[in-house]
Amino acid sequence: MNYKVVLNGCSPNFSNQCSSVSAFLISSNILDREAQTLIFYNNSAAKLKLTAETPTSLLHLIEINNYEAETVLSILAELEKPNPADLYLFPGDYAGSELAVRFAYRLGGSSLAAVESLQMDQHQIKCTKGVYNGYLQGTFKLSKKPYCLSLARGILPNRDSQVIEKREAVYSDRSEERQPAYIVKRTVEKAESLDELESAKFVVAGGRGIKNKDNYLKLQTSASLLGAALGVSRPVALNGWAPLNKLIGASGAIINPEICLALAVSGSPAFFGGIEKSRKIIAINTDPQTAIVNNADVAVIDDYKAVLDELTRLIGEDKNH
Ligand SMILES: Cc1cc2nc3c(=O)[nH]c(=O)nc-3n(C[C@H](O)[C@H](O)[C@H](O)COP(=O)(O)OP(=O)(O)OC[C@H]3O[C@@H](n4cnc5c(N)ncnc54)[C@H](O)[C@@H]3O)c2cc1C
Repeated sequence: MNYKVVLNGCSPNFSNQCSSVSAFLISSNILDREAQTLIFYNNSAAKLKLTAETPTSLLHLIEINNYEAETVLSILAELEKPNPADLYLFPGDYAGSELAVRFAYRLGGSSLAAVESLQMDQHQIKCTKGVYNGYLQGTFKLSKKPYCLSLARGILPNRDSQVIEKREAVYSDRSEERQPAYIVKRTVEKAESLDELESAKFVVAGGRGIKNKDNYLKLQTSASLLGAALGVSRPVALNGWAPLNKLIGASGAIINPEICLALAVSGSPAFFGGIEKSRKIIAINTDPQTAIVNNADVAVIDDYKAVLDELTRLIGEDKNH
């Protein structure tokens, strides 16, 4: 089974991409120094530096103007479609995962993101990756070639990696490639982080019972009056009432505050796993039978709005005295 590695030579973490791909190839026992690495780059002055740490000896350096998924994909498809490799490996960053999925779609293959290791035979590959926020290890079989995988983040360099004595590189200049007309403007935004929730001492967590985005925005005001960080259950994030970096639970933040005030959440296992390390859990829910009421240290059976309004009023009064 032959493979190719596709790296982003425009990224400041190019060196990390090389070392994590090398470590992945060694730990998966598929290191083939004769395989090819395709490198997209946009700084011709730095191109020689890019060849120094690659995981394979055969290199194809492709100069582009801007590293855009659309541009990289159309060049890749043009180069590879006539005679695709069995397997393509992409780095573990966001751009690598996007390319892996979209390239597989274009070539009619299969894809998987954040892969930690793989085993392969002539007919299929089996990949392992962390699932449920890394609490479980999942094994996935892929059967449609080409397999396009992006690697898990944080694969550490392997001490045993061998030095490559000689590398052979070919160069292509695709810097004239136009970006698609439908891209009008590009902006880069900082990735959302779960840090605020995971380090907070007091967290208010709102569930589906808050019912809409307006109420989420009101909850934001109340939480800040109380001096608490605000988190939500999955339906609140998936309905678009709150951003995804507010999600608490198995798929989001695992919090350990002094106090977690859980409002209008039922306390499903997937959510409760995210708050169970809280020192004290206080639930406010209209349903006395719901799971959170049984698992909380203190439960108030009432409409969350009435209780929250009263709480913020009392705190406001307290501050004014
Ligand atoms: C693979 C997988 C991963 C998942 N990961 C997560 C995760 O990370 N986090 C997560 O939260 N969920 C996760 N879920 C979803 C999870 O199983 C539940 O569906 C979800 O937690 C339910 O959210 P909820 O409690 O807000 O909503 P519901 O279960 O609908 O509960 C709403 C609660 O609000 C109460 N209520 C309604 N109105 C009021 C009111 N006015 N005042 C007070 N109480 C009121 C109701 O009595 C009810 O108890 C996952 C599911 C799967 C399959």
